[in-house]
Amino acid sequence: MAYIEGHAREQALLLPASVEDYVAADNPVRFIDAFVDDLDLGEAGFLRSRPKATGRPGFDPGDLLKLYLYGYLNRVRSSRRLEAEAIRNLEVIWLLRGLRPDFKTIADFRRDNRAAFRTVFRAFVALCRKLDLFGRELLAVDGTRLKAVNSQTRNFTRAKLETYLKSADERLERYLTQLDDIDRGEDDGVSGPAEALATKIAKVRERREVSEAMLDQLKASGESQISLTDPDARAMVTHGKTTVGYNAQVAVDAKHKLIVEQHVTNAGSDLGLLAQTAGVAKALLGVERIDAVADMGYYKGEDIEACEENGITPYVARPQRGIAVSNGHFPKERFHYDAGEDAYRCPGGQRLDTRYNSVVRGHVTVQYSNPNACAACAIKARCTGGRYRRINRWENEAVLDRMAERLAARPDILAVRRETVEHPFGSIKQWMNQGAFLTRGLEKVRAEFSLTAFAYNLRRAITIIGVPGMIRAVQA
Ligand code: SF4
Repeated sequence: MAYIEGHAREQALLLPASVEDYVAADNPVRFIDAFVDDLDLGEAGFLRSRPKATGRPGFDPGDLLKLYLYGYLNRVRSSRRLEAEAIRNLEVIWLLRGLRPDFKTIADFRRDNRAAFRTVFRAFVALCRKLDLFGRELLAVDGTRLKAVNSQTRNFTRAKLETYLKSADERLERYLTQLDDIDRGEDDGVSGPAEALATKIAKVRERREVSEAMLDQLKASGESQISLTDPDARAMVTHGKTTVGYNAQVAVDAKHKLIVEQHVTNAGSDLGLLAQTAGVAKALLGVERIDAVADMGYYKGEDIEACEENGITPYVARPQRGIAVSNGHFPKERFHYDAGEDAYRCPGGQRLDTRYNSVVRGHVTVQYSNPNACAACAIKARCTGGRYRRINRWENEAVLDRMAERLAARPDILAVRRETVEHPFGSIKQWMNQGAFLTRGLEKVRAEFSLTAFAYNLRRAITIIGVPGMIRAVQA
């Protein structure tokens, strides 16, 4: 039996008369075209949003923005690949009306307009709100580490540099001793010729000098680490794995798992980022009150308090941390605070009410204890390795107690958190080549992440509403 055959290449064909006929009515490029045409690019912060009166005409920023939105939606992020798509891809030929910007023009556009991409992301969030795609009741806030253009071998912490300097000094001493032995004619034949040793010594000295200069630079700047390829990238450890990169934060609405707010930081930890991320998302959703759930990496009293003050009801599980937990002693949760008595009841049934206040950088902590009871306690070995057990309480810890009660009444909310944030992060990491940025520098990676988050939201919205419905919403 024969195979299905294509037509002969030289055969004359009756192809559709215009590029328009190659792009279906529900093709996402039609939405990108309508969406960008509806944006006020000057207000969004794009340069050259009005054509120059004199000189050679440049590309319309709207056309280059359309190209980037299309590219990120289709996992084409590099300027060279976008240049190629503008020549061979019928959807892009339709979108750009046959324009063929070169890769440098494309790359320069992203670099020059990096701050404006967040406005584009937010314009799409506003459209999703108009389409009633947000539940506006529950936000899941989370962060993920995305790789920078900076390998681990080109990232140096103070500890790493100090360790290297110590080992370099030891090596130099050993090489110099060997060199002396050779000079005295006591070479045992293992250390090799003097020239080879001299080369090794020169190499170690050169690297040592560079390392010492970096350490001096770190000490002078007060920074904890230095990255050579992307100076803004930081080594971050999550689940025991080190990534040199950035921390991308998102607030995701639980209804359709759409991202409401996103930002990128080079802070290695999520601590202190909940109120900021959820606060912007709440404002964008235009609600008076909203719930926000996050993992225990966000458990910070002042931040939880800031959420409550801003109309955000936080749900963050208490982490099991502290010396008592690591020593296998009773965790703090086994001690019950009585607000009326301002005292703790311990697992041994004793009242801890001896108070001692301490203030560290404005953070007031009250320490509760009962040394006499501990001295006579039968279960002391399970409670403390010291003379008596102390329980520390932040002066506003009632905020955390209230949150613990809310969590106890709604334990399922932690599972909702997981499934809400897993979807965007899973998709984004897959599209971003295992979660790696292409550009260098905090501002540029922020632009990249805005485009990525836009593409994620657009895909979700298309699945829910469809392209024609979204175009109608833009034009309404
Ligand atoms: S050691 Fe002290 S605090 Fe701990 S259970 Fe015994 S009495 Fe209570």
